Parts: sequence; C-alpha cells; structure tokens
Amino acid sequence: MAKLTVLGSINVDHLMQVAAAPKAGQTLTAKNYQVVAGGKGANQAVAAAKLGAEVAMIGCIGSDAIGTQMKAEFTQVGIDTSGITAVAGEATGLAMIYVEDSGENRIGIWPGANGALSEEVLVHHRDQVTATDLLLMQLETPIETLVTAAALAKQAGTTVVLNPAPAQALPKALLQNVDIITPNETEAEQLTGVTINNMDDADRAAKALHDQFGIELVLITLGKRGVWLSNQGQGKQISGFSVNAVDTTAAGDTFNGGFVTALLEGKSLSDAVRFGQAAAALSVTRLGAQSSIPTRAETLVMME
Ligand code: ADP
Repeated sequence: MAKLTVLGSINVDHLMQVAAAPKAGQTLTAKNYQVVAGGKGANQAVAAAKLGAEVAMIGCIGSDAIGTQMKAEFTQVGIDTSGITAVAGEATGLAMIYVEDSGENRIGIWPGANGALSEEVLVHHRDQVTATDLLLMQLETPIETLVTAAALAKQAGTTVVLNPAPAQALPKALLQNVDIITPNETEAEQLTGVTINNMDDADRAAKALHDQFGIELVLITLGKRGVWLSNQGQGKQISGFSVNAVDTTAAGDTFNGGFVTALLEGKSLSDAVRFGQAAAALSVTRLGAQSSIPTRAETLVMME
C-alpha cells in the first residue's frame, strides 16, 4: 500500500459550546465543555488513518500525561508514531476553542512542544520524509523545518502536499517545492491577494498559485460551496455534500486527510476530492476535531 507521512502539530483542544463567543469584558457560562485531541497535523493524520491510509506522523508532544495519552491513541488508530518526539520541559500544544450555535468557531493556540519541531529533530526522521509516497504538512509548526522537509521530499520524488493553514505569508523556498496546495478561501487570499467571492475569483487565485510558484495542483476549499479544483490552470468547481453544520472545526483537516488517502489509492482527482468532501461533510455534523472524523465505512455510505 502507498505510504503517507504527515508532518505537523499535535494539540489538546479545550472546547466550549456557547450561544455566541464572549465579547470584550463579558463572562459567559458555556453549555458544554470537552477536552479533545486536535492540532492540524494530528487531525489530518488521524483522518487519513481512519479513512484507510497507511500513515506515519512526525511531530512533537510535551513531557506531560495528555501528550503521552494522545500518542497512545494515535497508535490505536494505526498511525506509526515512531516520528513523535516527547520534548522535555515543554507542554503539549493546546487550543482554546469557542464553538457558537451558528457552527462558527473562534480559536486561540499555544504552540508548546510544536515549536520544538526543529530541523535538528527532523534529521532523525529523514527516512519518513524521503521513503514515503506523499508528505502532507500544515503551518502550525516552525516554517524553516517545513522548507527543509519539502526540499528533501521533492528531491526524493515524494509528492508534497501543503495545507497552508492557518493563514500566513510563506517563503518562496517552501512554495516552490509544493506539488499540491489546499488553501481555504482566507488562506488563498493571504497567499495571492485575491478575495474569493465567486468561482471566477477562485480561478484567478488558483492561477496565481500556479504561475507564481509553479504549483501543479491547486484545491481551494470553499466551505459548504465545495472545492475549486485547478489542475495546471484547468479549473472546475466540485460541489460538496449538503448537511446540517454543528461544528466546522477540522472540516479542512478531514478533507485533506480524505483527499490524500483516496489519491494514494490511485483514485482520479475528482473522485479523491469527492471522498475528502464526503468525510469533511460528516465531520461538520459532529462536535470537536478528531472526535468528529468519520470512519471509511461511514464515508462510503455518504457517497452512495
Ligand atoms: P476550513 O475548515 O479549512 O476552513 P472549509 O471550510 O473550506 O475549510 O471546509 C473544507 C471542506 O469541508 C469543504 O470543501 C467542504 O467539502 C466541507 N465543508 C465545510 N463546511 C461544510 C458545510 N457547512 N457543509 C458541507 N460541507 C462542508
């Protein structure tokens, strides 16, 4: 089976359900509170593993009980955790998340051990970058490590997929080694300066990413409007699935995990996008990050 390596963040999410997030100076009692496993890297690794991929993860946890527990849970879903380093004296990364009744969320992050995913740490896991079929990364760990990992992967013939989240400016040194990029609308605007209101805008943003950085394949996720898929400048919209949104946390992560899983199985680009979208749609009907990720069987039923 083709192999996937996910390099990225591991967080513990503190999740409060509220009618609307508190305003400045306001104190609100939440309707519900949960501690769930999150972090974009971990979410994407868990999504891919649950959806059928063979996954190894490169990341850092703190020297605390919650980090150790999350690592054990990754093993339980079948992820190879030999690339996960426990960093002495650091806390596992965390996120404070408000989920509003509307389904919108507001998130603050403390990187903790994720900030220790340095090039020195990466050196120990070189093989997982060079001897894998596809490397999937996001932006919640140090950027210089991503630059090095992308260059190593590219040289070795590994497909490099970047989910450029959360939105931030990026060096050309990273983008020039990316084969597939999967921004949402905000992230696409951050990278190209194009505000996306309609499909023409999505097409313009995708073309800017092809032209400026030589990225072959651009997938702009458009929330409930689906995905804009642009293959070397040939673009089309692929509609999503219609569901009742409860919590959109990790929709993008589930999409990315599902999309690369189907791609590694040899599915066509359109079919891989559809598989990712079916899994993502199911995830928005449930609360939480990793807790909301559906199984492969559930996803296949959704696609019928
Ligand atoms: P992110 O979570 O990174 O902001 P998006 O909001 O674009 O990313 O969502 C990623 C994918 O998840 C979308 O392309 C779509 O397939 C699916 N999705 C997100 N929100 C909804 C929704 N309300 N209904 C159905 N599918 C959704």
